[in-house]
Formats: sequence, structure tokens, C-alpha cells
Amino acid sequence: MQRAHSPLGNLRTLSQLTPSKLANRRVLVRVDVNVELLGGRVRDMSRLQAVRQTVRWLVARRAKVILVAHRGRPVGRQLSCSLRPLVRPLTKAVGVPVTLVAARIGSAALRKKISALEPGQVVLLENIRFEPGETKNDTRLARTLAGYADIAVNEAFADSHRAHASITGLAKFVPMVAGFQLARELRSLKRWLGKPKHPYVAIVGGAKISTKLGLVRRLLTRADAVLLGGALANTVLKAEGVAVGASLIEPDMLRAAHGLKTTNAHLHIPVDVFVARAGGQKPIRRAVGNVQPSERILDIGPDTIDLFGRVLRTAKTVVWNGPMGVYERPPFERGTRALARLMAKQSAINIAGGGETVDAIRRQKLDTKFTFLSTGGGAMLEWLEGKTLPGISACMKGKYV
Ligand code: ADP
Ligand code: MG
Repeated sequence: MQRAHSPLGNLRTLSQLTPSKLANRRVLVRVDVNVELLGGRVRDMSRLQAVRQTVRWLVARRAKVILVAHRGRPVGRQLSCSLRPLVRPLTKAVGVPVTLVAARIGSAALRKKISALEPGQVVLLENIRFEPGETKNDTRLARTLAGYADIAVNEAFADSHRAHASITGLAKFVPMVAGFQLARELRSLKRWLGKPKHPYVAIVGGAKISTKLGLVRRLLTRADAVLLGGALANTVLKAEGVAVGASLIEPDMLRAAHGLKTTNAHLHIPVDVFVARAGGQKPIRRAVGNVQPSERILDIGPDTIDLFGRVLRTAKTVVWNGPMGVYERPPFERGTRALARLMAKQSAINIAGGGETVDAIRRQKLDTKFTFLSTGGGAMLEWLEGKTLPGISACMKGKYV
């Protein structure tokens, strides 16, 4: 049952559909199974598990389920980006057999496969980005895809900030509803971060300031404190005229980053860091301003952790995206680990999102200490920025079909 005043407004959701509408119907589900494979194995199953509920619910209602997904950024039909290695892990995560249909979109072979589907059967189409029209939101591709389905489900929150053919395009030709996980993500984000309890503290780290500058600006107007770390803090430091040696920075962003004004009392940047010499691994602690030309900043230092910890302790709500350092390479995971532990220890509302951020939290088995972990990196950031996500709009009443 939907509540009269749903917190999701006009969002059409799977649970609003009557089961009789689904039996024998072809349901196309856009999922996000874009996971990293290490030696052929999926390291983090959480994205695959996130589609379990929707798929099983549809199977139980005797729908014919057609899963559509992408993996990586293939150029044409690049076999290293095939979805084939995901079939077994996905079958395991969902608990019902999933088979790959490699026939091309628009081919007679695929049409035949789709019309031969049995109720309760689940197929996965090959990487949708093998089609050049996908990222261009090509109308023909969208119409062809929509032709395979009686109804579409968006279960890919992590891709919903992208206006691609399988995310928004097809909603012009077939009714689209939000899947259970997507609705849950939105409900949680709205509940905890729509009107956050203050003091509200944001932690932003990770690789690129270019993808997060808008967010940092917006957070500076909404949060009581913003803590910056990771490589993006390097660009901000450099923009302030601080020597960062051979650290990873984005030269094109220096001007824009300068506009952040590190004198802003709400903005906290690292005061000390761990560096390594080019090609080296040994961590050397440096005060910010004292980094040598051959050195790279790879993590935040203990004074910075202390400083950030003091701010965090005051918080009632904390939102975190982006690791504080190159956490994949010990010992440069210390800053990220320390912040995860600090958050886990306190009773604030703790929200985190982003592929690497969530991975870092799970590696420490601290996931249960967080109020909510979003499956979306970029999508969560754009939501936080106050942007309308095209993949969400596509599921709104009165929009498209
Ligand atoms: P998320 O996926 O959580 O949104 P990002 O993709 O923005 O995070 O950034 C994660 C990456 O940033 C990690 O691979 C990490 O190694 C890298 N990173 C963090 N700090 C640094 C640094 N100081 N120098 C180079 N890379 C860094
Ligand atoms: Mg990432």
C-alpha cells in the first residue's frame, strides 16, 4: 500500500502495479551491475544483490523479465566488456537462473528470443553500451528496446543521472516505474538529507574536483562544515598557492577551485599529509606547505584526522563521498579508515555513497554502522546538488507515457 502522501511525490513505483498486469507480460528492467571483476570474480556483490528483490518479485508474479545493463565504457562490441562473466554471480545473487542473450538489439534473432520467453523466465541482454545509440540517447534504439517490453522498470539508481536510451529514452515509448531499490534509495536520501538535522557535516574526497565542485559549493551553503580530502583537496591547495609537489591535480580546475576560498570558515582542508616519492611507497609525513617537488600527496595526516574528528563529533548528520587518500594502496588507507571508524563510533545519522567510498567502508566491515549506504556515486552527488535526475523524472506520473 502506498501512503496517501508518499514522500516520493509523483513517483510511479513497482509496488503500485496490480499483479494481474504483470503475469505473462514482458518487463524490461534497467539494472546497474557495473561491478569490478578481479581475476574473474566479483569483489563486491552489493550491486548485484540490490536487484534481487525486484527480479524475484516479478518472477513470482509470472512476468517475463528482460534485464538491461551496461559494463565499463566499451568502444563498439568490445568483448572485455561483455556481461557474460556476470551471469553466474547474478544468478547467485538473485536466486533464480539468469541467461545471457547475446543477439544484437534490433536483430531478428533477438526478437525471436523475446517472443519465446516463458513466464517467470529471466534473461540478460548483452552490454547495452555495445550499441552506440545508448549513451547518445538515440530515439531509434530507445524505440526498439521499448518494443521488447510491455512495461519498463528503472532499478538503476546509480545510472539515473544519465539521459541514456535505456534509462530515459525508452520511457517515451513504454510506461516506466521505479524499482524497489531505487525507490528505497530516494526515500532514504529524502528522509535523512532532505532536511538534515544540524549540525550537518559533509566529507568530500576522491579523485576529481571537476566532478564534485558544484556539490562542494552547494554543500557550503547547506552544511555547517565541509571537510575536504583526497586528490581533490590537492587541487584546492594548489589553487591557494600551496606547493603540492608531484601530486595528482587537475590543472584546468585551478581557477574554479580558487573560487572556493579556503578562508571560508565552514571549509576545512588538510593541514598535514602523507606523501611518497615518485615511484616510492614509503609514507613520509609532511605539514601542508612543506611537500617537496618530487613527492605525491597520497593520504591525509594525523593532525588532519584529529581536526576532522573534532568537527565530526559535533555532527547530528554526516554525509560522506570520496576516500581521503589512495585507500587501495596500504598504508595510504589510514585516513579513510580513520574517518570511517570515527563515523561508525558516533550516533549521528551517517550516510555514505560512491563506489570507492562504500567499498572502503565494507572492507572494514563497518557497513552496518551506517544509517544508509547509497549505491549511487555520481547520481547521489547530483541529487545532493539539488539536480533533477533524468532517470527519476522518467518514472514520474504525467511524464512521457
Ligand atoms: P567514489 O567512487 O567514492 O565517488 P572517487 O571515484 O571520486 O570516489 O575517488 C576514488 C579514488 O580517488 C580512489 O581510487 C583513490 O585512490 C583516489 N584518490 C584519493 N585520494 C587520492 C590522492 N591523494 N591521490 C591520488 N588519488 C587519490
Ligand atoms: Mg569512483
